Amino acid sequence: TTTTDDAAQPTAEPHVAHNYSPLPVTAATAEGAWITDGDGRRYLDCLGAYSAVNFGHRHPRIVAAAHEQLNRVTLTSRAFRSDRLEPFCAALSALCAKDMVLPMNTGAEAVESAIKVARKWGYDVKGVPDGQAKVIVAGGNFHGRTISIVSFSDDPDARTGFGPFTPGFVRVPYGDVGAMAEAMDADTVAVLVEPIQGESGIIVPPDDYLPGVRTLCTERNVLMIADEIQSGLGRTGKTFAVQHWDVEPDVYTLGKALGGGILPVSAVVANHDILGVLHPGQHGSTFGGNPLAAAVGHTVVDMLADGTWQARAAEAGERMHARLRDLVGHGVLAVRGLGLWAGIDVDPALGTGKDVCLRLADLGVLAKDTHGSTLRLAPPLVITDDEIDWAVERLAEALRS
Ligand code: PLP
Repeated sequence: TTTTDDAAQPTAEPHVAHNYSPLPVTAATAEGAWITDGDGRRYLDCLGAYSAVNFGHRHPRIVAAAHEQLNRVTLTSRAFRSDRLEPFCAALSALCAKDMVLPMNTGAEAVESAIKVARKWGYDVKGVPDGQAKVIVAGGNFHGRTISIVSFSDDPDARTGFGPFTPGFVRVPYGDVGAMAEAMDADTVAVLVEPIQGESGIIVPPDDYLPGVRTLCTERNVLMIADEIQSGLGRTGKTFAVQHWDVEPDVYTLGKALGGGILPVSAVVANHDILGVLHPGQHGSTFGGNPLAAAVGHTVVDMLADGTWQARAAEAGERMHARLRDLVGHGVLAVRGLGLWAGIDVDPALGTGKDVCLRLADLGVLAKDTHGSTLRLAPPLVITDDEIDWAVERLAEALRS
């Protein structure tokens, strides 16, 4: 499809590398759950920048925090302290019930950093022989686009043409604790898992999976790393998706919504006995934890502190899923997800996921396909009940046309 899409819009953005094939919608402004193009046409944003816009576009409280910080200090590098970083890390630690934060920028960077930390923990604390550390990952995973991360992907689009790959990863089927147990050995330092797989099509695992992974990791002295970059910070109706199964991982990777829809902010969050393996000079980032990012991230954490956003995501999510379930048998084969997050398998006879997204965009709703005939919805949590109903009606219409 990439080739076809490229051919369809050869000159739309001639100076932009063709690593995406965007819908033919050009955002000029946005507010709340709505995006407006240059001609004044409005679209209900049901993708929310892949869960990075959980609080809506330009949430006034987040924008105000950013403005205030823009007028104070924005970037120091970590060569000096800023008065924003420690308070942000303290607040984020408290939200995660952990005691330390490693601030980074993008999701992939947080995942890379978590893997580095897990390897170092393996050598320094667990006593794994140097160079032998193994990390177990799941089939169908998506954790980002760097060389090491695509090294353990099983998506041919993500991998093909990008080798040689980073060793030290073992992939087992998602949802299968038995296979994970078999793959674990004395050199295993960590399990890296999405509590709900996003890119793969919003795959919710069987109820015994995450508790099983937790138990296994505890028994074998292996770190459980939950990649909550897309699932975390309110999206599923809880602060973290793992909470649906009462599971507490050893390490969280966070990103996307942590930047409040304004700038990239990511983090690795864990206790001192894990993150404490990093010493000065061993890891870093020029922009990670900068004062502007810390001010924005801290505001996001404060907004999540009393559970109101999570409760809204749960309530609105139930409505959205109930409406979507009504479409099963009417062009929809299956609906999955939790909270305001849904993967919708469209009957392939009605067209590809991209075809349906194009029709939806014509009707004023923005969504994104994944893996052929699956649509994913992750609207900003500010979406109203009426807007949910309206979006699902447009989906029904798109499936009829
Ligand atoms: N991890 C998960 C679970 C994701 O969904 C994503 C992005 O979709 C990433 C990591 C990578 O984040 P980024 O695109 O900010 O590098």
